[in-house]
Amino acid sequence: MKSYPQSAALFDRARAVIPGGVNSPVRAFKSVGGTPVFMKSGSGCYLTDVDGNTYIDYCGSWGPLISGHAHPEILKAVMASAQNGTSFGTPNPCEVEIASLITGLLPHAEMIRFVNSGTEAVMSAIRVARGFTGRTKIIKFDGCYHGHADSLLVNAGSGLATFGIASTPGVPESLARETLVLPLDDEDRFLDLMKSVGDQVAAVIIEPVPANNGLLLQRREFLQTLRDACTQSGALLIFDEVISGFRVALGGATGVYDIRPDLVTFGKIIGGGFPVGAYAGRRDIMSVIAPVGKVYQAGTLSGNPVAMAAGLTQLRLLTEPGFYDRLESLAARLGEGMASIIRNLNIEAVPIRMGSVLWTYFGAADRLRRATDIDHATMDRYRLFFHHCLENGVYIAPSGYEVMFVSSVHQSTDLDRTLTIMESAFKVAYGK
Ligand SMILES: *Cc1c(COP(=O)(O)O)cnc(C)c1O
Repeated sequence: MKSYPQSAALFDRARAVIPGGVNSPVRAFKSVGGTPVFMKSGSGCYLTDVDGNTYIDYCGSWGPLISGHAHPEILKAVMASAQNGTSFGTPNPCEVEIASLITGLLPHAEMIRFVNSGTEAVMSAIRVARGFTGRTKIIKFDGCYHGHADSLLVNAGSGLATFGIASTPGVPESLARETLVLPLDDEDRFLDLMKSVGDQVAAVIIEPVPANNGLLLQRREFLQTLRDACTQSGALLIFDEVISGFRVALGGATGVYDIRPDLVTFGKIIGGGFPVGAYAGRRDIMSVIAPVGKVYQAGTLSGNPVAMAAGLTQLRLLTEPGFYDRLESLAARLGEGMASIIRNLNIEAVPIRMGSVLWTYFGAADRLRRATDIDHATMDRYRLFFHHCLENGVYIAPSGYEVMFVSSVHQSTDLDRTLTIMESAFKVAYGK
């Protein structure tokens, strides 16, 4: 049995001075119970906590670490950059390099602006969409997460009400009403809404690969319907690729589905482990941003040279030949291994995978495309699964709604060891 005295002591101290002891709520282990583990170091696919326990990591800092922890080339670039000064508050050469690389790789990213988080990227893209169209309403989908900007912390209103209600105190209802929330995978509801208010809609925003509330893979036709209706009504289509960008393929979900959004948001992988976000899109739209245009958006540390050096090095690693093929075969080994355990144990569970993003639904379902397809009661099984994994040295997200990420530095031996541990974790979760 692992023990966690140092983590427990730190958590006690943390709770006295940081709300809930954490700087982001899901880290507090509330949905799985127990004491969050405080990590002290990461190397490759391994994490080591403050008590000296080690783990094979599939959280990957919630997605950014596609090349694992402390990748030597990223470290080298970061140290070299830091030695030259950590922030200038002026333009720097590295931001031009990374912007050129991305706009060269992604045809839909004609221009790009860097910010400091995914939340900031989405918040800014929404402002630009409103500024560009002169409209105020936003359509989002239940089951997608877009960071914690006010306009997007909104849930579906009850019954047939189309306007959103604030999902947290602190968001004014007057603002929440500007956000309309629909179910995923429902063309009819979407087209009906667009028919009535389409000319007031500034943007339709979606995670093209919804990966924050399980992994609710969408039909391409649904995404195409959004594209067509936006084009028709003059609303902008925003793909939030903060997770899927550079993850499901070099070209993100946009490349996989071959559907072109007007704006796209990035985060996570784009910073190589540093706090970076970005939004990008059509040149005419991006040209409304100050100082070219009138839509204000700024950042003291945006385009920070150290963060840009990390991001640039990360993206260069991704463009090396065979990167995604290798990642795919590693993820397939894990995904297929989990699927065969589930089959052999004959348990009610549904493994879902897109590239190196994996999620298991701990129940029975013949369709998992909408938030309402997920039965909350299945999370009891996840809790047992999670704790067995943790105790045995496999670190997965402390919430059953979160996905697993495979990195390019997980070795076959790590994956096989993981599968052995997961087999017993499934048995524990299902009382077998
Ligand atoms: C993580 C995430 C965000 C928010 O990014 P932060 O860097 O946490 O602010 C926004 N959208 C999606 C799709 C995300 O996965």
